[in-house]
Amino acid sequence: MSLPSKEKIFVGSFIHTNQYGELIIVVHGMIHVKNGKICNIVVNPKLSDIKNENVSVLSNSQFLIPGFIDCHIHAVQLPNLGVGYDKKLLEWLERYTFPLEKKYADDKFSEQVFNTVVKQTVVKGTTTACYFASLYSKASVLLGQAAINIGQRAFIGKVSMNMKRNDDYYETTDESIKNINKFIETLNNLNSHLIKPIITPRFALSCDMTLMKELGKLAKNKNLHIQTHISENLDEIEAVRNKFPEYSSYAAVYDAAGILTNKTVLAHGIYLSDNEIALINERGAAIVHCPSSNTCLKSGLCDIQRLKSKGVKIGLGTDVSGGQSCSILDTMKAALQVSVHLSLIRDNYEALNYKDVFHMATLGGAAALAMDNQIGNFEVGKEFDALVVDIDVSDGILNNLQSSTLEEKLQKFIYSGDDRNIVEVYVNGCKIK
Ligand SMILES: [Zn+2]
Repeated sequence: MSLPSKEKIFVGSFIHTNQYGELIIVVHGMIHVKNGKICNIVVNPKLSDIKNENVSVLSNSQFLIPGFIDCHIHAVQLPNLGVGYDKKLLEWLERYTFPLEKKYADDKFSEQVFNTVVKQTVVKGTTTACYFASLYSKASVLLGQAAINIGQRAFIGKVSMNMKRNDDYYETTDESIKNINKFIETLNNLNSHLIKPIITPRFALSCDMTLMKELGKLAKNKNLHIQTHISENLDEIEAVRNKFPEYSSYAAVYDAAGILTNKTVLAHGIYLSDNEIALINERGAAIVHCPSSNTCLKSGLCDIQRLKSKGVKIGLGTDVSGGQSCSILDTMKAALQVSVHLSLIRDNYEALNYKDVFHMATLGGAAALAMDNQIGNFEVGKEFDALVVDIDVSDGILNNLQSSTLEEKLQKFIYSGDDRNIVEVYVNGCKIK
């Protein structure tokens, strides 16, 4: 990783979105970055006016976009990528996921996996990752250290689960509360503004109400983010109903625990009722769309247009390794395909387009994580998390053989590009690819 340069100026094309999800297209512009933050943006600058030795002039096939935000990824599950998709969620968890996650009692294995997951996601353009780490505090801190070392912005979630299991992969309630407090303290002592702890009850089937309430209190007292899963799979929803019969819905269980807040991200949300969506909106929580995972584990087709029309904040998640790729660009493609499939089986259904998924991968994800005042698009005062995209790299599959508009170049990248087209990655003004 290179040292943070105090000042850098980019001259060329850039594309980002506003809060309404509309594209902002600047064919010729300048972004001035100082101490990690955007300090000036000029449209149609005169090159002769720019006097700074740290000027980077983009080529005709290059443009800047905001860095990708992965709102839901299990760092510990990377070694299982591509395995077990003949199973559905609950069986897959028992057969593949829990046995792998127990291995993170080994620090060496943990470091090896976490370095790989941070490096691979950075290469694929993820500038902010919201990670599920391990049940084990020590391993979870190692993930935070890996993110700091490589320079990725990240939420690190030590997983909380206290429901007794035969394989001992759980904590008692007392241990769980003690360990999460210790984890938060240790992670904060790493002293990096790039990483933050996030309260992470695995899901309603892994935690009892006592633990979830304690976690809710902790998040409130320490003003922390919260992440969990909701309404992913029909058998899971049935099991939650049986476990918590006194509550009217899955979302109502979380609400009773106090873990639905305006800093909560809920992965999946495929089968939410109108009442649950209203409750989630009222609390200001967000849904993370995980289309690859929903397909691989045959969980269902999430209707994002319905959530959008009800004003839900929505980000994108790779959900490694329920999802088969740690790339948000791949997740954007999956979101488009799932939406097109929905449009083919429903009357008068308008599928999502490239602008929608681009927004969800950037500013939408930032808003889901309540960080849209800090990252997500190019505005003066925001931190500079960005990707230089090049649609004409020698080893890529795209080309610049005929002239295309900047918006067409973005479409090419989203539908047919891959990480070879992401030639530079910046977090907080610092080049990490
Ligand atoms: Zn997940």
